[in-house]
Amino acid sequence: MIDFNTPALYESIVNRPHVVILGAGASVATIPDGDKFGVKCPVMNNAIETLGLQDIVDKANLQTKSPNLEDIYSEMYSRLDCELLLTVLENRVRNYFGNLILSDVPTIYDYLLLSLRGKDFVFTFNWDPLLIQAHNRVSIYTDDLPTMGFLHGNTALGICSECHQAQHIRNKSCVNCGKQTVIPSKLLYPVREKTYDDFYIKTAWDSFLHYLSDCTLLTVFGYGAPSSDKKAKDAMEAAYASNFRRFDKIEIINILPRQQIYDTWEPFFDRTNYKYDVWNSFWESSLAKNPRRSVEEYCNRAIANYFGPPFPKLKPCGTLDELGESMLPLFKEEQDGIFKPPLR
Ligand SMILES: [Zn+2]
Repeated sequence: MIDFNTPALYESIVNRPHVVILGAGASVATIPDGDKFGVKCPVMNNAIETLGLQDIVDKANLQTKSPNLEDIYSEMYSRLDCELLLTVLENRVRNYFGNLILSDVPTIYDYLLLSLRGKDFVFTFNWDPLLIQAHNRVSIYTDDLPTMGFLHGNTALGICSECHQAQHIRNKSCVNCGKQTVIPSKLLYPVREKTYDDFYIKTAWDSFLHYLSDCTLLTVFGYGAPSSDKKAKDAMEAAYASNFRRFDKIEIINILPRQQIYDTWEPFFDRTNYKYDVWNSFWESSLAKNPRRSVEEYCNRAIANYFGPPFPKLKPCGTLDELGESMLPLFKEEQDGIFKPPLR
């Protein structure tokens, strides 16, 4: 029988990371009314209209009548006569996403990044630069922020063609080797049979699957695991199943119908003995309820039977400085090495 109060067990679980997976729904929640200039963040189903790609679709004379970018891209990719149009489409997609700019007020991505620490990870399927922009601006308040991984590449991500260092696309010289060899990262376009052989994307996936296999908390935010991404979902499922998960927990933030969420993630819930939560918004999640202490709070209550007062919650703030200031007590505790209340 497992003793739930075994300090070694508690320590082994509390020191593991919180991993967050982001899909298109998270970027939509970050700029729900559009970006700084009112430009909307599209999802696959409305991308043709939002990105203004109808002229390309018309010229390609496609068989598919689906409005979904994935279906359209897949057909064009499979047809030799669409090669040129596909390049035009790719450039337009890259330009559209690449030009999105966060509004000046705090957004969900600012709160999300500040709610995690350097031991944690955010992996995103999104091409838009919003997460990187948020990371840049909240890093003036703390440098103890989660590591980001871009599973389909990113429009704000540059890669050094000499040393493979990932960095901001605007860097004139590589932060690692100093050479002027920073090029845009590859974007993984939505074909059904994706190849993950690009150096950066492969490294990001290796890291993703590793930490997925060894995280205490997993939050899946706005990612619906589309059926066309079966290969990716299978790899995630295998990674998650490769470890003992009976003490771990999953939370899903998504506005999809509950049954659809359950059907998608049930194999993962099964691994944790059905320890999972489903939330409609970021503000209900453990990230907002227990910022920078989500794993500690979970372990204290679920494993160590702690019934003391909760950690402070994230509060919606009017300005970024107000948000940074509201985090100061937590930053102070971290500098003093205090991450969890004393256990009984
Ligand atoms: Zn370099």
